[in-house]
Amino acid sequence: MYDVIIVGARCAGSPLAMLLAKRGQSVLVVDRATFPSDIMSTHFIQPEGVKRLQEWGLYDEVMASNCPEIPQMQFTLQGVLVSAPRDPSMPIPICPRRTVLDNILVAAARDAGAEVREAFSAQEIIIEDGVVTGIRGRNADGASVEARARVTVGADGHHSLVARTVAAEEYDTHPPFTCGYYSYFSGVPLPTGGEAFVGPEAGVLAFATNDGLTCIGAGTDRQFFHDYRADIEGNFYRILEQASPAFAARVRAGKREEKWIGTADTENFFRQPYGPGWALCGDAGYHKDFVTGLGIADAFRDAEFLSEALDAGLSGRDPLDGALAAYKERRDTAAKPMYDMTILFAQGPTLEEMAKNMPAAQASA
Ligand SMILES: Cc1cc2nc3c(=O)[nH]c(=O)nc-3n(C[C@H](O)[C@H](O)[C@H](O)COP(=O)(O)OP(=O)(O)OC[C@H]3O[C@@H](n4cnc5c(N)ncnc54)[C@H](O)[C@@H]3O)c2cc1C
Repeated sequence: MYDVIIVGARCAGSPLAMLLAKRGQSVLVVDRATFPSDIMSTHFIQPEGVKRLQEWGLYDEVMASNCPEIPQMQFTLQGVLVSAPRDPSMPIPICPRRTVLDNILVAAARDAGAEVREAFSAQEIIIEDGVVTGIRGRNADGASVEARARVTVGADGHHSLVARTVAAEEYDTHPPFTCGYYSYFSGVPLPTGGEAFVGPEAGVLAFATNDGLTCIGAGTDRQFFHDYRADIEGNFYRILEQASPAFAARVRAGKREEKWIGTADTENFFRQPYGPGWALCGDAGYHKDFVTGLGIADAFRDAEFLSEALDAGLSGRDPLDGALAAYKERRDTAAKPMYDMTILFAQGPTLEEMAKNMPAAQASA
């Protein structure tokens, strides 16, 4: 019997496990993946996320992987170069590979005292008398295993088994608007570490990452996904040409080093993040389009908020239900402004709309 079982051990699950274990809770975190391993995601970390890595004592280890900083994200909005100055009180964004970042997070959970089981697939969420009491799943060796906890957390991504099992209600939903493909290139240096080109119908994001590579993604309206998939390379460069012929030429001068990765799975929703014996964290509880690159920092934030709520509830300082209601309120209040901006950006805003939503950009546009 654990205090908390967490399904999913990446940006939401491992920090949650680490923070709860540090507070003395007994934690089991399982993931069907083994680490280090990749997952479909570019990996720009917003300053708030970098700050949490610093506070958790993990930043130096991430940077020691030879991860470059992104001192200035340079935006070109419909052909107009705008500068969005950084908040000097916040850390500089970074873009570490998920193979690097997630591995460090999993190790930190383990070091803090959480039990981490890799290659463990949760197959069933156990519900007794309306209360979630644990999981059934398969260990690495194929053995069927049951584990029980006072609270079971779904940190298992936006197709969350936990959320599906408890039928967590969705709200503030928006349909998927975009699709996109990305890959990794050598020989495409970015003088400021990051560049974004946003137009009415397509957008390009480029970030400096580990091993001297540049992660470059090109997205467009979701209705074109079928055509995009039919000729990924051709469409990728078509989007780049439209966004910036000069940038397209720089990318053509480099070399693609890895396979294409793409998705049209970009729905937008909040989910009710708690109920009897269960809670949701990260993408499982709140998912949005990748255009604004928020998911990792948001997962870190939600892990912190949920760890505080669970610790208060499980230690008896506060009623658990009230503590989890406060978690929902904190999460939604913190996430809503950027969620609304994400919905706007995913739909291809006008220059005026973009400028209005990027005050710093407006000043210099
Ligand atoms: C194309 C794309 C680009 C993106 N770019 C960015 C970006 O630049 N910056 C940014 O901040 N965010 C970005 N995101 C979003 C970001 O990837 C997610 O928000 C983030 O990964 C959420 O972390 P998580 O821990 O909640 O879920 P995930 O990272 O999805 O991890 C969930 C884990 O749960 C495990 N799991 C699921 N089900 C089970 C089960 N039944 N049993 C055992 N294990 C299970 C999975 O194996 C997985 O390891 C992007 C996403 C996409 C798709």
